[in-house]
Amino acid sequence: MTKIVLIDDDQDSCLLIKTFLGSIYHKDDIVEFFSGKAALEYFQLDAQTACTQGTDLILLDVLMPDLNGIEVCARIKSNNAFDDVPVLMVTASNELEFLADSFEAGAIDFINKPIRKIELLARVSSALRLRNEVMMRRMREQELIELNLTLKENNLMLEQLAIIDKLTGIHNRGHLDWVLSREWASTQRNQEPLSLIMVDIDHFKLYNDTYGHLGGDDCLRQVAQALLSRLRRKNDFIGRYGGEEFMVILPATDHHDAMLLAEAFRVDIQNLSIPHSKSKNAEVVTISLGVSTLTHFNNKDHSDSLIHCADQALYQAKSSGRNQVCFLPYTEL
Ligand code: GH3
Ligand code: MG
Ligand code: MG
Repeated sequence: MTKIVLIDDDQDSCLLIKTFLGSIYHKDDIVEFFSGKAALEYFQLDAQTACTQGTDLILLDVLMPDLNGIEVCARIKSNNAFDDVPVLMVTASNELEFLADSFEAGAIDFINKPIRKIELLARVSSALRLRNEVMMRRMREQELIELNLTLKENNLMLEQLAIIDKLTGIHNRGHLDWVLSREWASTQRNQEPLSLIMVDIDHFKLYNDTYGHLGGDDCLRQVAQALLSRLRRKNDFIGRYGGEEFMVILPATDHHDAMLLAEAFRVDIQNLSIPHSKSKNAEVVTISLGVSTLTHFNNKDHSDSLIHCADQALYQAKSSGRNQVCFLPYTEL
């Protein structure tokens, strides 16, 4: 369906154009107006709701009594909704001086009066072809924009997948290493303490033996999420270090605050009350925690030493009976 709007005060001219166009286009799809005012009303150009009414092409007479074609064209073209609707001016050869103004107003071509069928059909068809090409290009542009958006979303998802531990939903070991390096550098710059907490579930092998590996997986998820939900500060960071071990990185945190947080973690996990009938130190799942705090500012990246110290503190917590927090001061390896 191709909808053509004809605006001409001369009814005979309208009839002729309609008859010629009727040989190719459907007569019902050709809408005619005998004044510019009537056409502007049809397009609701005075209201906020301007609408092309599905128009593909406008044929517009230049000389009309109330509003002339150039004004009508300017009014139509000043509305963005009509950007892709071509306007062809219909003009007698003695009105050629109006053509410059018509193009200025946004018309793309003109047809001479008296109307010759072959010229009318050729110009209409080429204007419509141009419109179709523009529409197709816009569609392709839109498709490209949408494709780009999907690509960006997918990339973001892939980036996320690369740093997230699939089982627990918290960050993975690789990302922990990266964050620790970054925080180490910022600690050196700002000369602020950097604390590390290593967390390990107590008697987790026995948990798996009792509740099965899937039960163990579920327990790991619950513990990870509980630890995560305790973190309040934007730069505090938690990840799964491996197996049933987690690492918490606390920038600008001294050993006192780190110990308080570690103790809060311990209580949180105990209060989850996940039954652990075979555990040797409680009836529920518990964790042991090792804390260490860096206060040396010699610029070199010794994050391995900090991990080692926190690990040693964790070992101490284990050997002292588990379900507790131990601290070891930082020493370089
Ligand atoms: P401890 O109190 O000394 O830490 O004892 P433990 O049994 O927790 O420590 P151990 O290192 O002997 O055992 C860790 C267990 O964690 C063994 C391993 O099968 C289990 N584990 C590691 N990763 C996963 C996992 O992704 N899912 C499950 N279900 N179990 C895991
Ligand atoms: Mg363990
Ligand atoms: Mg372990």
